Amino acid sequence: MDILTHIPAALIERFRASPAQTAEEIIRANWRSVACMSCGACCCSSVVPVGEADFNAFYTRLNPAMSRREFARRFLADPETNGVNYTLATEPFGGRCMFLSKTAYFRCDAWDGRLEVCREFFCWEMTNYAKWLAGETQGTFSNDRSWMENFDLLLTKVKTESPLSFFADDMRRYLTLLARDDADSYYQRHQDEFHPREK
Ligand code: SF4
Ligand code: SF4
Repeated sequence: MDILTHIPAALIERFRASPAQTAEEIIRANWRSVACMSCGACCCSSVVPVGEADFNAFYTRLNPAMSRREFARRFLADPETNGVNYTLATEPFGGRCMFLSKTAYFRCDAWDGRLEVCREFFCWEMTNYAKWLAGETQGTFSNDRSWMENFDLLLTKVKTESPLSFFADDMRRYLTLLARDDADSYYQRHQDEFHPREK
């Protein structure tokens, strides 16, 4: 199997750390980013929650040539509700986040400084893949296949199935597998910023 026929060369080069790295080494070191940039599903989801503190830090990192208020008007679906249920604005941008470009692969134009929720957003297949790498039982990936074959299966699944998961237990396990010590869900850490929407 030549997995490289499934992954655009430009995507692999995006993560190259040194001229000597092989394509497989690049993919192994960046499997989550490579898979996500083949999928883009959650960046097209209008239900991605954006906490106010997360948004403010993103604005500071990005430092766009517009005021915070103007940036919020463009980037968020409902910026005027002052901390109530911010979500990504997708409708004005063809059903996707304003930073998501589609070339040979999905590309987040704000990848290096992206939101906290984007960094840890998880999905069912990514969680299963992280479990398989950690030697845990799951139903999709198998030691009977090579590493590349399993990665190809991950790519196929995120491209062809709906991989999003909204289960808090999945998110906690995924964050733990990513070796994060704050394995609370995004909602838990930002709960003061999310309130019931006023009617
Ligand atoms: S749905 Fe999963 S693979 Fe697709 S972009 Fe989101 S986290 Fe990445
Ligand atoms: S900022 Fe980037 S990673 Fe986050 S939703 Fe937008 S395109 Fe996706």
